[in-house]
Amino acid sequence: MTAAASPPEVLRAPLVVEFPFTRSLGPVQSAFLSGLRERVVLGVKTTDGKVMVPPVEYDPVTAEEIRELVEVGAVGTVTTWAWNGSPRPHQPLGTPFAWVLVRLDGADTAILHALDAPGPEAVHTGMRVRIRWAAERTGAITDIACFEPGEAGEAGEAGAPERQATAHDGQFADAVTGIIAAARLDYTYSPGRAQTAYINALAERRTVGERCPSCHKVYVPPRGTCPTCGVATTEQVEVGPAGTVTTYCIVNIKAKNLDIEVPYVYAHIALDGADLALHARIGGIPYDQVRMGLRVEPVWTEGGRHPDHYRPTGEPDADYDAYKELI
Ligand SMILES: [Zn+2]
Repeated sequence: MTAAASPPEVLRAPLVVEFPFTRSLGPVQSAFLSGLRERVVLGVKTTDGKVMVPPVEYDPVTAEEIRELVEVGAVGTVTTWAWNGSPRPHQPLGTPFAWVLVRLDGADTAILHALDAPGPEAVHTGMRVRIRWAAERTGAITDIACFEPGEAGEAGEAGAPERQATAHDGQFADAVTGIIAAARLDYTYSPGRAQTAYINALAERRTVGERCPSCHKVYVPPRGTCPTCGVATTEQVEVGPAGTVTTYCIVNIKAKNLDIEVPYVYAHIALDGADLALHARIGGIPYDQVRMGLRVEPVWTEGGRHPDHYRPTGEPDADYDAYKELI
């Protein structure tokens, strides 16, 4: 037996999926976040008199609307916790810390936040902790920088009896009425063996799919298995480069960070020899002249690792029967 050539290294790349999520707050959350900016923690009373912190707009038992705001303490008790030895970017603290649920004095429920502690041996359920306020506060949950061990609040209330919830009208000057939360997923993506081969071939301006040994369909891009038969696909098949538009849509909304004038057409294209359509942008033709059956070919840019877009080949349109199974 001779040594086989080692397979190409499977690709890996960092990937970030990010979008800003804009939310209007309504009266309860507006009062809660405006309060944090003023170093006031507000909760809400439920129908049966329980105090919920952070507050909610509807009673969790009766689903009735609840609006009775109360102020609770900035000192509380840890009800449970977990040590985070390897903080990730954008977490509340850059050094190892504990995630804690803290029941603030006067509240009946606990709030999730970070506890700055030297190590897990310094954290225990039942310990007393207090809020460390952020130096600059904007009306966000991050106005609480974190919790820290200790009984005394910043007002020096060491040894004082547990604070009771007191009524609050929820009124603040320049109330915060909306927030923009950046939803963000930051991870390492590996496309696996089959798509690595596909991507590497694309960089050489070849489109390579894989044929199912059972149903003989050619999948482009390949996933490594046939989704119908459930068997591994290994036979590589070069397809295209030309193909047929099977269906399409006209894009009228400009995407952030994408330098393409709208409107433009995004299409499903069945490459010649492929049994699955891939999707790509269509260029080189007015958007309102793109049609099902249009014959197209890839356009590569200098140094590009994949086609920039597809353009008409000038051939007659394909017969509907030739691609109807691929729509
Ligand atoms: Zn199959």
